[in-house]
Amino acid sequence: MTSQKTPIAPPKLGEPYLLTPGPLTTAYETKEAMLRDWGSWDGDFRAMTAEMRTRLLDMLGPGKEEFDCVPMQGSGTFAVEAMLGSLTARDSKILVLANGAYGQRSAKTLAYLGRDHVVLDKGDYLPPRGDEVAQILADDPAITHVVAIHCETSSGILNPVGEISDAVYAAGRKLLIDSMSAFGAIELRPSEVRFEALVSSANKCIEGVPGFGFVLARKSELEAAKGNCQSLSLDVHDQWAHMEKTGQWRFTPPTHAVAAFLTALRAHEAEGGVAGRGGRYTANRDTLVAGMRDIGLETLLQDRWLSPIIVTFFCPDDPKFSFDRFYDLMKAKNFIIYPGKLTIVDSFRVGCIGQMDEHVMRQVVEATRETLNEMGVTNAAPPEIAIKERAKLAA
Ligand SMILES: *Cc1c(COP(=O)(O)O)cnc(C)c1O
Repeated sequence: MTSQKTPIAPPKLGEPYLLTPGPLTTAYETKEAMLRDWGSWDGDFRAMTAEMRTRLLDMLGPGKEEFDCVPMQGSGTFAVEAMLGSLTARDSKILVLANGAYGQRSAKTLAYLGRDHVVLDKGDYLPPRGDEVAQILADDPAITHVVAIHCETSSGILNPVGEISDAVYAAGRKLLIDSMSAFGAIELRPSEVRFEALVSSANKCIEGVPGFGFVLARKSELEAAKGNCQSLSLDVHDQWAHMEKTGQWRFTPPTHAVAAFLTALRAHEAEGGVAGRGGRYTANRDTLVAGMRDIGLETLLQDRWLSPIIVTFFCPDDPKFSFDRFYDLMKAKNFIIYPGKLTIVDSFRVGCIGQMDEHVMRQVVEATRETLNEMGVTNAAPPEIAIKERAKLAA
């Protein structure tokens, strides 16, 4: 159950709810924190950066002493690129575990960086499993690193990072995790799941505004990273070394976004940290999924693979259904949803993260029901091919 006793206040100023996995609906206090200016060099802002780094490290739990936090300007992808380019050597070979758009993006990033890599491509959503990873690593001793996506936001699947990590370290290789859409809501403790670094950003489960990402990496890896990166602005080692020495970011920091993030981090702690935040999102998902299934809509994934971050639903097979019209009618009811990313069947996605609770999710379900009625959709069931597709993934 949620630790939130009173319902979350709806967005002021009549804003729609963003049922999207970042940018997302933020608290009024988080937006309000941006109503002043900070000098990037000034001690007040340096203290804000220091508090932010400490709070992020604290979320790792036991073992956090071996890690440090390096914030990087830009959207999440910039931080992923910074991690990949800085924490692998130029002669590294990287195995990318892909089951969706973000895994593909990591592979593309490595191609841009000119890093040797191979991709285990599981298609739209099937999870990469530990035994497959073990086999690939056994067959290719040149592989030095593995990149895994924690929650693959393009389908909403929660990938099995525990078994992946076991396979990676049993083979003596290193794991880098894109935990962009999961960090802060799903526990990822180095004492339980070993990894060298993870990356996330301000506008996901911590519920800040967009503007920067951050890399949480072992200090040993940060130290060894000198000279790896061929990009100045994305060099994690250089940003880290500079920040350690001066308390400052190397180049203009997103001051207002950092101020908002600090407010969001304090609210995250007040909600009960990762467990509290994850509890609310789980209740959001459960309310959403139960309500949508009651309408006749079906999820892409069986329950054990559903993340509490975002859920993919198959579009109804009914010819009266069109996603564009569905989107517009939902928006007219103040809900912004997300198109799907599956290549084989039409789908849409609904995010469970941001300043929303199960009361809001019930409204989302009611808005969906009304919208389908308005469209004249009498049967929300997906086409046969969708069910066949889903059967590929064992529960
Ligand atoms: C959001 C996200 C990213 C980064 O996307 P940006 O649009 O660059 O912020 C990377 N990986 C995953 C899994 C994500 O959910």
